[in-house]
Amino acid sequence: MARDESTGDDSSCRDVHEPADKARQNAMQAMVLKKLRTALEWTELPDRQPGPREIRVKVGACGVCRTDLHVVDGELPNPHIPIIPGHEIVGRIDAIGAEVEGLLIGERVGIPWLGHTCGVCPYCIMHRENLCDRPIFTGFTCDGGYATSTIADARFAFPLGEIGSDVALAPLLCAGLIGWRSLVIAGDGKKLGLYGFGAAAHIMAQVAKWQGRSVFAFTRPGDVATQGFARSLGAEWAGGSDEMPPKPLDAAIIFATVGDLVPLALQAVRKGGRVVCAGIHMSDIPSFPYRILWEERELLSVANLTRQDGIDFLGFAPEIGIVTKTTSYPLKQANQALADLRAGRFDGAAVLVP
Ligand SMILES: [Zn+2]
Ligand SMILES: [Zn+2]
Repeated sequence: MARDESTGDDSSCRDVHEPADKARQNAMQAMVLKKLRTALEWTELPDRQPGPREIRVKVGACGVCRTDLHVVDGELPNPHIPIIPGHEIVGRIDAIGAEVEGLLIGERVGIPWLGHTCGVCPYCIMHRENLCDRPIFTGFTCDGGYATSTIADARFAFPLGEIGSDVALAPLLCAGLIGWRSLVIAGDGKKLGLYGFGAAAHIMAQVAKWQGRSVFAFTRPGDVATQGFARSLGAEWAGGSDEMPPKPLDAAIIFATVGDLVPLALQAVRKGGRVVCAGIHMSDIPSFPYRILWEERELLSVANLTRQDGIDFLGFAPEIGIVTKTTSYPLKQANQALADLRAGRFDGAAVLVP
């Protein structure tokens, strides 16, 4: 696979599944998806040196995102198998390739879903690199962070500073960043609905409150525990997704991957209100009467992130004092973490620790 088709550079996306005799002396361990819809396998792989514009990062923590379930389930187009999932990586640089500027050995960085963009396609040129025609996505088309070590394009890594633990910061790298992009696209409305109160919503509820908004949290019907969790984070109201909020919303973000929520959210927003679908994958949206979209309600989706999203969000995240609720699992228990996420067995976010 070519990492950078504009230059013919294929060095950046590690292919650790091929023998690399030179690197054999240092092994790394990873949980590898070798076949779609099967359990990840604990695997020892060579720990290669970073190439030009790359860094090698010793993983301190890696968040478990719902997108990882979509990867394992084969729900995303053009899967790369075998693959090491994981795109909420926090770690420390332990090797630096040529042509890397501004990063130091030992520095703590975050590596997000957006692993690389081409820089030359129309979307990159118009500063919408989240829509790049030739992107590489960490943990999907390039090996990610369910590992003791990973290689990343240095230009797409975010310096994280020293405030907060690796585990606490990991969910910010996707749930936080994609959530932030969704929040910006939702507009400035004061009354904000969040459908699906998991990793992303529990962070965005804190951001929205800090911005002076009122949060209305929608969970699976009857999930009073998660509704209580939402209230504990400052939600003005929490209820089931089958309920209407006590007042019309200015905007709603759908973090759950359930297409049935789209018509419900459209009915919950006021005239001119906006509904943002934040996920990369969603079950089919049922047909609905035009009148619930009418009156200039808007329905949009969010795709990926730009580096500017990361700079913006991670820049003021310490100021907000975001508290992430995390459940840690040893790296070897990645399959259990994915199963628990699928079943909704924890509040907040799961994080793997090598
Ligand atoms: Zn591009
Ligand atoms: Zn994600």
